[in-house]
Amino acid sequence: MANLWMPRRLPGSTSEPQVSARHVRGRAKSMLWLPVVIACLVSCSSADGADQETYSAPVTAAPNPVTSDPAPPPAREPAVDTPSDAPAEQPASPLSDRPSREEIGLQFAGVEPAEWGEDLEGILTVLPTQDKVVALTFDACGGGASSAYDEELIEFLIQEQIPATLFISGMWIEDNLGKLDYLAAQQNLEIENHGFWHKPLSVNGREVYGVKGTASPEEVFDEIEENAQRIEQITGRRPEFFRAGTAFYDDVAVRIAGELGVRIAGYTIAADGGATFSKEQILAVGSNPPPGAIFLFHMNHPESNTYQGLQSLYSALVEKGYSFAKMTDY
Ligand SMILES: [Zn+2]
Repeated sequence: MANLWMPRRLPGSTSEPQVSARHVRGRAKSMLWLPVVIACLVSCSSADGADQETYSAPVTAAPNPVTSDPAPPPAREPAVDTPSDAPAEQPASPLSDRPSREEIGLQFAGVEPAEWGEDLEGILTVLPTQDKVVALTFDACGGGASSAYDEELIEFLIQEQIPATLFISGMWIEDNLGKLDYLAAQQNLEIENHGFWHKPLSVNGREVYGVKGTASPEEVFDEIEENAQRIEQITGRRPEFFRAGTAFYDDVAVRIAGELGVRIAGYTIAADGGATFSKEQILAVGSNPPPGAIFLFHMNHPESNTYQGLQSLYSALVEKGYSFAKMTDY
């Protein structure tokens, strides 16, 4: 059915020329989708040199599963078999009414997913507003070269006090000890959860672009909770939003996230094409966003043009009367 894409996203009532959510999403799907996958989803997951190769790939290049190497090094596997089901060290929040790992395993044992994608029911792909407000989000994917830090970009956000939401993975945190404190202390920034291992969120190990997803309800729990707890231990605040590595989910995993009280952040515009876009491309895809658009950028590729593109785009949007929100403002 042709209208499957539309209703959930936006009322479609915007009269903004050429910028209906469908249009932007359509472009994101058809043009920006592959680079995002290549440069973020693929390279972000790799712990080897694949990053550099994929980063410089032309934006129209097809995903290359061979260079994807999603598997984290064995030594860094999360400790899912610790003696207790409870998070091993430092339980983060006082045990709330959130279900335990075991309870999630029991509740979702044998439940087969029926859907797979980036925009399933339950994924927030646009803020619920008709105002000229957008959310700038920045992923720190982690792993090898994807654990870099775009300090210039972050300092720009801080200096201009631009509200922004940072999605940070456990691998990135591990490779950037000390930075999370600094980021969390900034009033204009909020820290959200990009998964412990930056995996697609699946209950049966489903892959996308050669990146293997979590393989059970328990692994879904770990991917969300291990990083949520780590972020809370460091910053004192439990993340409210989650965005999976690759931004792909099955519907059962989305339900599990809901059971854990987590909101899932999708995106409206793949604004830097997985950190492969030129400044001009960033301006081209981002300059006419629909109300409530969620921009997806990266803060882990300082060698990219993301900072320069963002800087220009920010000025253009301000000039057009847009304002900026954090994800948790909605
Ligand atoms: Zn990522």
